[in-house]
Amino acid sequence: MQAYQKLIAEVRACRLCADLPLGPKPIVQLDPRAKILIAGQAPGRITHEKGIPFDDPSGDRLRSWLGIDRATFYDPARIAILPMALCFPGGGKNGDLPPRAACAPAWRAQLLAALPNLQLSLLIGAYAQAWHLPGRRGSTLTETVAGWQAFWPDIMPLPHPSPRNRGWPKKNPWFETDLLPALRARVATLLQT
Ligand code: SF4
Repeated sequence: MQAYQKLIAEVRACRLCADLPLGPKPIVQLDPRAKILIAGQAPGRITHEKGIPFDDPSGDRLRSWLGIDRATFYDPARIAILPMALCFPGGGKNGDLPPRAACAPAWRAQLLAALPNLQLSLLIGAYAQAWHLPGRRGSTLTETVAGWQAFWPDIMPLPHPSPRNRGWPKKNPWFETDLLPALRARVATLLQT
């Protein structure tokens, strides 16, 4: 077994947050060959049940933003998927609870170290942006995404692709006219090489 496969097995056996409402079920997609990282918040209930990240309308929208199909998206040699916490945190009054704070200190540095070929990290939502872009802490998600060119071409901050978030791109038309074309072109280039 290679080192990264051993690490994945260790992660999948993690029971650090034994009090999670539905229990620990770490979900990660990782292969050292991947050039693109999707760093989201945490698995939702559907992902927890299916064991497959973004196999829902949010994932369909994210794939359309990236201009890629499902086969490419779920190819770990091309795309790594590491949310800020790897297990479903449970639901709250206003959506899912925050990602478990214990997860990133326990696993994130090791998992990122297992991705030596990363060339583009997609930071979806405020938690991933705060961790990967500590200089942006205190900024709103819209401010961080609007300033995407400061991090380009290694990093792209994104809003959550949930269909419930459809109003955000309408209020920020530069997202579809400027950001998405640049993102799709870079993703296509990275996937060709
Ligand atoms: S959220 Fe992270 S630290 Fe907590 S049980 Fe899941 S994998 Fe382990």
